[in-house]
Amino acid sequence: MLTNIFSLHPDELTEQLNKDFPKYRSKQLIEWIYKHFVVDPALMKNLPADFRTYLNEHFSFDIPYLDKELFSKDGASKYRFRLSDNEVIESVLIPERTKHTLCISSQAGCKHKCSFCATGKMGFKRNLTTDEMVSQILLGSQECLKTTTIPSAITNPPAPLPRITNLVFMGMGEPMDNLDNVLQTLRIIQADNTLAFSPRRTTISTCGIVPAIIKFADSGVRAKLAISLNSAIDAKRDILMPVNRRYPLNELKQAALYYLRKTSFRITFEYILIPGENMGREDLNALRKFVGDISCKINFIPFNPGYSTTYQAPDAKQIEDFMRAAQALPQAITLRKSRGADVFGACGQLSNN
Ligand code: SF4
Repeated sequence: MLTNIFSLHPDELTEQLNKDFPKYRSKQLIEWIYKHFVVDPALMKNLPADFRTYLNEHFSFDIPYLDKELFSKDGASKYRFRLSDNEVIESVLIPERTKHTLCISSQAGCKHKCSFCATGKMGFKRNLTTDEMVSQILLGSQECLKTTTIPSAITNPPAPLPRITNLVFMGMGEPMDNLDNVLQTLRIIQADNTLAFSPRRTTISTCGIVPAIIKFADSGVRAKLAISLNSAIDAKRDILMPVNRRYPLNELKQAALYYLRKTSFRITFEYILIPGENMGREDLNALRKFVGDISCKINFIPFNPGYSTTYQAPDAKQIEDFMRAAQALPQAITLRKSRGADVFGACGQLSNN
């Protein structure tokens, strides 16, 4: 089986190509892929025929097939990709005034069954390969290039934003369950001669896989960490996020503190607001106690109902009351405005629909 070219670090690719071709050929190839987002050698016009033949004989250029695009009225776009084995994943592109955020998947499905999450209801299919994650970024970048203007509701005046500026591993799947491939993806996109993607503009989200958080901190590969918390009360978190039964809050907190000691990045705790579940006074008190000595930001996200859920979205008054009470927290707090909910592209909604 041929090695997929999008799974290779540019240094590995360069080393292999330089054995048979002048050095500038590998440079040209890498520029086509990572500067122009051209993924088919036939379209790389300045490459000679013998080099293109070599590439096709030695590497696979397979990328996920873009099966469906859905455009939200708020400017977000959801892309559904079909993989070579027919599994389906989704990415979401979210334009804002000064940035383009791409949310990518790290697995087809997920095994963790968080009670608020549509992906969890699909069950686990498989880990994505490195090239399947890199491909989502390249295909998302192609879509960015097509985006010459963003709807005036989003920017005023409309501004062209041709590149992805922020990358979040918050799509389908648990990135920490596929850490080796996620780390290789980061190494590739952070290389100077590919996308030179800033670690500070890259976020890995986790439900709290403690050993993997430690491994990530020790890896030397850098990205920001977001922990999906949703409750600081073990008994409640056990229900919202069954992973808590394996890695309870005290262990999760120790892992978060370890990550902080090893990196210079402040952690973000994500907290989905679900009425009747985690928005009471005792919930805020527990949250204050949990985050007490952690350098972090807390991002509150109103629950987005998916196709099938027993939970309700909070109304405006519930959100306002909660956020007013949350002002007492010493950490920075934000309320994330959900994007793409009308195309089931918002947080917790991705499920191949
Ligand atoms: S929230 Fe994340 S970890 Fe939980 S089921 Fe959904 S994809 Fe999996």
